[in-house]
Amino acid sequence: MITQIKGLHHVTAIASGPRENNDFFTQIMGLRRIKKTVNFDNPDVYHLYYGDNIGTPGGVMTYFPFPEKARGRPGTGEVGKTVFSVPEGALAYWQSRMEGLGLEGLATKELFDDTQLLFQGPDGDRLALVEVPGDSRPFRSGSDVPDEAAIRGFHSVALHLRDTVATAELMHLMGYELAGQDGDIQRFSRADSNGAGIVDLHRLPGEEPADQGAGSVHHVAFAVADRKDQLSVRQAISDAGYKVTEVIDRNYFWAIYFKTPEGILFEVATDEPGFVHDEDIAHLGEALKLPAQHEHLRSRLEESLPAITD
Ligand code: ZN
Repeated sequence: MITQIKGLHHVTAIASGPRENNDFFTQIMGLRRIKKTVNFDNPDVYHLYYGDNIGTPGGVMTYFPFPEKARGRPGTGEVGKTVFSVPEGALAYWQSRMEGLGLEGLATKELFDDTQLLFQGPDGDRLALVEVPGDSRPFRSGSDVPDEAAIRGFHSVALHLRDTVATAELMHLMGYELAGQDGDIQRFSRADSNGAGIVDLHRLPGEEPADQGAGSVHHVAFAVADRKDQLSVRQAISDAGYKVTEVIDRNYFWAIYFKTPEGILFEVATDEPGFVHDEDIAHLGEALKLPAQHEHLRSRLEESLPAITD
């Protein structure tokens, strides 16, 4: 069994308008944009990263914004919900903040004895907040969200599945244990996590497969400390019969990818080197950062990518 995975690292989703996406996560959610770069595999598209002050793994939400992209259709075989942790007592603040802003899809749901506040991002992104007492992870300071309500990173993701058996086996392989069941949802968690140690498997046998588009999650990444642990995980997943990519340098982490039995793209990403190695912490996320292989495209990209200034 794999012991090196520590929880979630980042969640990457698809957006339409980059400015709307940026404004939602920085101004409404109170996260910091910690990196403004491009999709390394498709450099005509931004890759925007949001998190705490330095992009601590376990709380990094990232987006590929494709202007004019049509909305995805929710269904099975995808990450159906991304849940963020907020301090005990903070949900009332968030509910009134979001009601005041007229956010869509605002609702509450009781799950595993907790209340989740469900809401949608600008592309129908399915998001939620849940109170986690004693979550001492770092948070973004300096936004207009008060410190005592600020997001502490991810709580969990929910995978929407036609059937949970094969994916449950994969979660076991990845070091997660079944922590409970609530209706059609199985909760997997791991001890000694980085704080983002929960994955819910939601069985929705009557639903069609999802159609990926704006508002859909593209992939979910799990955290390992370093490249040595990543190679151990790669070996174990490959030995179990999964087709895993080679290690890919993503500038802020190293990544491997594979697909779950229902086709959800999983990544395993290193905590090293992190997001502060190529720009001053005080100005993180302000300049357009390009990897060496795309630096020659800079003048064209600076012209073609929509300006995001704050
Ligand atoms: Zn990723």
